[in-house]
Amino acid sequence: MENPIHAFTQLLTGRCLCESIRYEIEGELGPIFHCHCSKCRRWHGAVFRSRATIKTSQFKWLKGEELLSRYHSSEFVVKHFCSVCGSNLISTYDNDPTKIGVPLGGLEQAPTNKPEGHMFVSAKSPWFKITDDLPQHDTWPGSHAKVRETSGDR
Ligand SMILES: [Zn+2]
Ligand SMILES: [Zn+2]
Repeated sequence: MENPIHAFTQLLTGRCLCESIRYEIEGELGPIFHCHCSKCRRWHGAVFRSRATIKTSQFKWLKGEELLSRYHSSEFVVKHFCSVCGSNLISTYDNDPTKIGVPLGGLEQAPTNKPEGHMFVSAKSPWFKITDDLPQHDTWPGSHAKVRETSGDR
């Protein structure tokens, strides 16, 4: 008999600005947070980064993997981006290769889960005002581990 869970497995796709690189994510994302830290703001050139963690096994490059460039933004964090158009794609973790961080701005569909809060609000752009009712955390939302949760952890 077919597993009913698989019948509803979410399939998300994303791409970079020049469309040389495309990727696919199968299954539910981990908790979604809006990150206001200065690294995320600089990397994205945006006022905040909306992100989630997934299992590496949920992720697949569909095309253009050879065009990726990489940058170590901190000791264990590697940022992967398109070498043609500069779009920010994924983060990988040298100290946890089973997980990937995904910025949600590049997705072509809406994920099924909703954002759970804002983090690193202490580093927020002074001119930006948060107007939703989501919880606001000065740094990590409870713990670093909470941000690296994937759907399978809950
Ligand atoms: Zn590109
Ligand atoms: Zn951040």
